[in-house]
Amino acid sequence: MKILKIDHLGIAVNSMDEGKTFWSDILGLKFEGAETVAEQKVTTAFFPVGESEVELLESTSPDGPVAKFIEKKGTGFQHVAFRVENIDEALAELKAKGIQLIDQEPRKGAGGARIAFLHPKATGGVLVELCERS
Ligand code: ZN
Repeated sequence: MKILKIDHLGIAVNSMDEGKTFWSDILGLKFEGAETVAEQKVTTAFFPVGESEVELLESTSPDGPVAKFIEKKGTGFQHVAFRVENIDEALAELKAKGIQLIDQEPRKGAGGARIAFLHPKATGGVLVELCERS
C-alpha cells in the first residue's frame, strides 16, 4: 500500500463550540465549516494545518461511536488518518496480513472521502483511519 501523508488528526470534543475556542480562536486555525455524517452519528469540522488537517468530532447522539469513545477515554486525540493512494488495495493488503479491521469495505466519510478504520487491537492501541480522496 502507498501512504501519501497524514491526512488529518481526529479529536473528540464535547461540543464544536468548545473545540473551536481553542483550535480556532486561540491557535488561529481556519474553521472551514462543519458537516454531519448521519450514519456515524457525528458532526465533523476540518481545520487545515499545512498539508494536513485537524478534524474535530462531536457526537450527534449518546450512542454514537464518538460519544462512546469519550465515555471510555475522555475527550482529546481520537484517531490518525493516513491518506492512501488506493484504499481498496490497502484494505486487501491488510486483510492478507491478518490485520483486524473495523470496516471491511470503504465507506463514505466527510468531504466525500472514502474511509475505513483499522481496529486499535491490531495497531497497538491507536485508532487508524485510511482515507482516499479523489
Ligand atoms: Zn477522520
